[in-house]
Amino acid sequence: MAARPRGTEDVLPEQAVRWRRLEAAAHELAGRYGFGEVRTPVFEHSDLVHRIGQSTDVVQKETYDFADRGGRRLTLRPEGTAPVVRACLQGGLFARGLPAKVYYVGLSAFRYERPEAGRLRQHHQFGCESFGADGPAADAELVALCGAFLSAAGVRGAVAHINSIGCRNCRPGYRAALQEYYRERLPSLCGDCQRRFQDNPLRLLDCKVDRAAAEAAPQASAHLCGACADHHRGLRLLLGVAGVAFVDDPLLVRGFDYYSRTVFEFVHTGLGSQSGLGGGGRYDDLVADLGGPPLPAAGFGVGLERLLLALEAEGGSPAAAEGPELFVAGERAEVVFALCQQARTAGVRAEFDPLGRSLKAQFRHADRLGARFVAVLAEDGATLRDMRARSQIELPVAEVLPRVRAAAGL
Ligand SMILES: [Zn+2]
Ligand SMILES: [Zn+2]
Repeated sequence: MAARPRGTEDVLPEQAVRWRRLEAAAHELAGRYGFGEVRTPVFEHSDLVHRIGQSTDVVQKETYDFADRGGRRLTLRPEGTAPVVRACLQGGLFARGLPAKVYYVGLSAFRYERPEAGRLRQHHQFGCESFGADGPAADAELVALCGAFLSAAGVRGAVAHINSIGCRNCRPGYRAALQEYYRERLPSLCGDCQRRFQDNPLRLLDCKVDRAAAEAAPQASAHLCGACADHHRGLRLLLGVAGVAFVDDPLLVRGFDYYSRTVFEFVHTGLGSQSGLGGGGRYDDLVADLGGPPLPAAGFGVGLERLLLALEAEGGSPAAAEGPELFVAGERAEVVFALCQQARTAGVRAEFDPLGRSLKAQFRHADRLGARFVAVLAEDGATLRDMRARSQIELPVAEVLPRVRAAAGL
């Protein structure tokens, strides 16, 4: 029997209920915060994907690159931001007035990673991007929205960690300070960090192997230029007055190196090493780097698989049964099917047993599905059983549907 490719997941009906609930919360909240939906292709020109973050692990060695039959170099998107920027530029969205605020949900992203819990080769994201505002209010709005989404999804143990990693003016000084600090420790650094030392010293703070070294390292806050320090003060002030809880995390850097100033991450206390549920930050240089005009921007992404894991770790309520409102049972298929079809046309979730089994087996089937009402059709009328109240009445077949619709509020 064929198996699905490694690092991918199937979503079967019971699990799909959870997915739809997350997606519904994302659509509702993004709309409430004034973001409009965008959808982009699963693959992009490799050029676009590889133009961002030359020193980013994902872009360096974890992408799915291929040539199509026409010899074009294409890449399955490893994240949402660059494709969204490309789509907004191509669609002229930024020319229609600023800010431009967009979101995506259920966006599949592909990374060739070693599969483990919470890390998949195809995963799905909810993300929001805000273009055109350079002040901290845009950052604060995104942190608030990300937190509201996690709450709406049912997560309780997630906290916003925030930090500033400076801008193109002040980050070189901070990078130099980190390199100086780590230089004498270089021989004892892990393999990843050996490479990060040259390419992306900020990621040294991310090392999972040597936390003590990271904790004693120089902090970005001491190296921010005046404008970056003002921006970060502004963000903290706005979050404070709006009652959005956060903690300052001087060790927080994000995987992508296109960020500037604000970075944030919602950290879950019950997820072990994969504790980041989602986050983002400001990327004021990215739009221009991708061939657009200079345009300040900020955004975040939430991995939906990891969010579902967090909900499981919290012992979240099982998916509410979406059982039928009416199960139609009986020995004559033509009357059973006719009433079932009539009910469905009238907007009732209705079900019957297409296997034509015994009445007893039909009842077991109705029970397994979690039916609210079961109607048993006979020659001279029907018996309508209320499975919740555990009561039943006799009535003419024609009255079954009106009664069920009334009970279901239809
Ligand atoms: Zn700066
Ligand atoms: Zn390391």
